[in-house]
Amino acid sequence: MQPETRNYDLVIVGAGPAGLTAALQADKAGLHVAVVDEQAASGGQIFRQPPATFKAPLSSAFTSYPFGKELLEQARSNTRIQWYYSSIAWGVFHPVKGGVQLAIFQQEQTYLLEGRKLLIATGAYDLPVALPGWTLPGVMSAGGVQTLLKSQFLCSAQRYVLAGSHPLLLLLAEQLLDAGVQIQEIAIARPRPQLREILAGWRALPDHWRLFFQLTGIFFKLWHKRVPLRFSTLLTRVEGKDRVERVTLTDVDSCWAPIPDTERSLKVDGVAIGYGLLASTELARQAGCQVNWQPERGGWVVKHDEEMRTSMEHIYVAGEPAGVSGAEVAHCQGQLAALSIIALLKSDAATEVVAARRALRRAQPFADTVAAFFAPRLDALARLATNETLICRCEDVTAGQVSEFLQAHPHVTSINSVKLACRSGMGPCQGRYCQHTVAHLVAAERDIAVNQTGIYTAQAPIKPIPLTSLVSNQPESPLPTDKNQNMIMRQKP
Ligand SMILES: Cc1cc2nc3c(=O)[nH]c(=O)nc-3n(C[C@H](O)[C@H](O)[C@H](O)COP(=O)(O)OP(=O)(O)OC[C@H]3O[C@@H](n4cnc5c(N)ncnc54)[C@H](O)[C@@H]3O)c2cc1C
Repeated sequence: MQPETRNYDLVIVGAGPAGLTAALQADKAGLHVAVVDEQAASGGQIFRQPPATFKAPLSSAFTSYPFGKELLEQARSNTRIQWYYSSIAWGVFHPVKGGVQLAIFQQEQTYLLEGRKLLIATGAYDLPVALPGWTLPGVMSAGGVQTLLKSQFLCSAQRYVLAGSHPLLLLLAEQLLDAGVQIQEIAIARPRPQLREILAGWRALPDHWRLFFQLTGIFFKLWHKRVPLRFSTLLTRVEGKDRVERVTLTDVDSCWAPIPDTERSLKVDGVAIGYGLLASTELARQAGCQVNWQPERGGWVVKHDEEMRTSMEHIYVAGEPAGVSGAEVAHCQGQLAALSIIALLKSDAATEVVAARRALRRAQPFADTVAAFFAPRLDALARLATNETLICRCEDVTAGQVSEFLQAHPHVTSINSVKLACRSGMGPCQGRYCQHTVAHLVAAERDIAVNQTGIYTAQAPIKPIPLTSLVSNQPESPLPTDKNQNMIMRQKP
């Protein structure tokens, strides 16, 4: 394989708030920057845009986070940065001293981008929850339902139940109501907030009034449209013949354990599940970066210092892979990472670094409050799977098969051993769907802490790419660029 190689000062994976902020900051300082994102445009999850031909009012995300509009406008007009859109970053390699290589898949080819520094800003994804019936058509993650709505104005159903314990669920509720669909109930697993919690959270509010008013507006809309919002309620089962027809909701105690004889059934044709987000750390882990277990921050998150440097030389992290903390923290961390890199490669940026650190310190308490308030009980969620429930959707492995294996092999305490024997985590998603359920099954069976069960080893390619993109000796054409926008786009046939 002799893929075409290009050289940059800084290669960034992810064009969300973290990656975009870093790219624009580094470009301003004169660094040669490349940004890779698998989406067709910049914005990441929060500022995801519909196609330009769709007419729509500006998303409320731009009101809550006003820096977003400026970021997107600057990104659109910046022709110095090399934008690799519709491109999957699938592996990090360390062939030479003084830099790293990033392998990307674009237009059916693999290309290598060589960077003196690499910033991993790969965001987060919805926490998958394996419960009976979760594989039925019509059951989606809250982020998935929102993505369809934001990017294509499509609703996956007409009558939803929203179940979870994450603020994204409330944002989605508002967007679904605006789209004219019915919400039968919003089932929040955590208990109704206590006065002392509200008072403690109040201290994090200064500087975040916009978000507070947005949330108040959503509660008012739910009340006005008579949407029931119930706390201490867990989605425990989904049923239907060819797609979802009914759900079972159950009252739970403060540890999210179901209370006997409290089950009730609701008729729906769509389910949105939003118990939290997991940090996208696959690329960082494949690159060799160390991780920490922080369940309230998105599971395993990338270890970093004050300057956003990871444990691997030349590799930085910003945004959700460094711990799920929302768009504002991602924006501040992107800036801090870029300034640290600028200081190393180009010029002294000490004053700006101090200002960026101060901004991050101001943003953090609000993120901490939200994380503590909505922290998912991962142990309780993992107990929802029955023996028959599929936990690994790629390799068709049930919870019962994993339990049977664990009982037959009492020495096994690691999820990587379960992966080798049961194949859970060996499919194209590389364990993104099943890792947490398997880890909790092992932890419960062996009576050990869940982080002691380990983490699936991340292998290149971290996302599925065709083998043919690796075997061709010469790319058919040089790395394509769009002359006007300096953007590289992949059109799917
Ligand atoms: C589905 C979803 C919807 C959300 N909606 C909202 C919302 O409406 N409001 C809100 O306040 N918060 C929302 N959030 C949370 C929000 O994503 C974060 O607060 C914020 O966007 C984090 O910014 P970031 O830059 O860290 O990551 P992101 O914005 O997630 O950006 C990461 C980018 O990296 C790209 N990427 C990841 N891996 C690769 C790879 N291997 N190769 C190439 N590209 C890659 C992704 O395509 C993505 O564009 C949502 C989260 C998710 C998962």
